[in-house]
Amino acid sequence: MLPNPIFIGTTLFVLGACIGSFLNVVIWRLAYLGQPVTFGGKTAGLSMSWPPSHCPNCHTAIPWYLNIPVLAWLWLRGRCATCHEKIPVRYLLVELATGLSFAGLYLAYFHSGWSQPLGLGGTKFPHIIAAVFSVGAGHQRFHGIFDGGITLALDLILIAVLFAASGIDADWYEIPTALTHLLLAAALLASLFGLQPGLPAVNPAGIGGRMALGGTAGLLVSLGLLWSGVLPRSFSQVVPAAPDTDTTENYAHGPRRTIAPMPGPKKTWPSVVGALLILLMVAAGWLWASGPSAALIMLIAAMLLFLLGVLPRSNEAADETQQVLEESAAPSARREIVKELLFLVPPAALAAVAAFIPLSLPHAVWLQRALGVLLGMLFGGALIWLTRILGTLAFNQVAMGLGDVHLMAAIGAVVGTRLILPIFFMAPLLGLLWAIVLKFMGKRNVLPYGPWLSMAAILSLLIGWPIEHWYLLKIFAASAAPVANPMHWPGTP
Ligand SMILES: [Zn+2]
Repeated sequence: MLPNPIFIGTTLFVLGACIGSFLNVVIWRLAYLGQPVTFGGKTAGLSMSWPPSHCPNCHTAIPWYLNIPVLAWLWLRGRCATCHEKIPVRYLLVELATGLSFAGLYLAYFHSGWSQPLGLGGTKFPHIIAAVFSVGAGHQRFHGIFDGGITLALDLILIAVLFAASGIDADWYEIPTALTHLLLAAALLASLFGLQPGLPAVNPAGIGGRMALGGTAGLLVSLGLLWSGVLPRSFSQVVPAAPDTDTTENYAHGPRRTIAPMPGPKKTWPSVVGALLILLMVAAGWLWASGPSAALIMLIAAMLLFLLGVLPRSNEAADETQQVLEESAAPSARREIVKELLFLVPPAALAAVAAFIPLSLPHAVWLQRALGVLLGMLFGGALIWLTRILGTLAFNQVAMGLGDVHLMAAIGAVVGTRLILPIFFMAPLLGLLWAIVLKFMGKRNVLPYGPWLSMAAILSLLIGWPIEHWYLLKIFAASAAPVANPMHWPGTP
């Protein structure tokens, strides 16, 4: 028995909009946490809850009813009630995007007839299109709140964290590890709830389970060696302070506080028109497309709203960012990146050794899940880290941030190893599409990579399995025995 889709969908939209409102605060404040701030005659360190939300221009505190997500911005028509200073349209767009993505994912999982398209025969490309849009969809993806509730909850946390990380990465060229660790903790916590459809699990006695254990042990060894100073830290020289600040920063973490955050687009009306068009697309989807396509369109619309609110910046701001990035570029990236290779030796070695040692681990359900989480974390992190190292060795220029490594590790922990390659290949394609959009808007493109990994990860929740199934068929076409349905563990309907 499923509850009323409109009631739950609306509830999740409202919940998502409230969380989006909080994400705006996270994006704005996380990089400044602890900095002394004076407000209302009191000076203290900035926290998520202090000072209370107020207009940065006239410092008037904002009463709760003018803080209601989406509605307050529309009611005030994007201006402060007291001094009429513009409130960035980003606030509205991030709230809308989070609400829409929450409702969209719920409808996709429980009410759209989104089928699990495994078992489609053939190896031809059109099959993936059929699979993605679930033409002739049969059964629901999940069958009830006990079948998919934990998966939905964890995936909603994933979306919220990815939105926050993308927003901060867009503003600061940095992804706080507080966010990625939170995601990792949530993924491990969810493994206590037993097997869940769509969430990773591996056989503890199999090679994957053993490598997860060995790799994690090696990771802990490396971290211990790093903290005790045996392993050198890469990019640890301190760069001279930028002219307008007196903070010195470790440039491995990006030129923090030297790039002024750009709270989204400057002009409001083009974004509002864009948002209306995107919402029309959602309405058209529900009116004319099939259930699964409508749910997919809803999720894509949410991502477009988010990108519209967070990513565009003025050409002057882009130039400034480019300049700061160039000034803070490491002079000897190749030599520095070799230090990171050292860090990777213990995990790789222990994972390889463990692969050959027959272990008799208990077949407990929580262990299957926890090892699946760890294996996803290791695979996701390693893939981006190796890309970073190889890219840096090739071009003597830092290719990808360590923040991206943390981010992909956390994503891998939630979605598992099998969705990592689809995400890895989708991310640059999405980045390229956005670059083309920016070209049409006549804007410069200086963007970090985190948002693209994030958007690919969100998209993979719906289309990752068909893509993964398609390339598995491509690669192993000859031996394409029916793949066990990863969405439904034995015992679930
Ligand atoms: Zn004001």
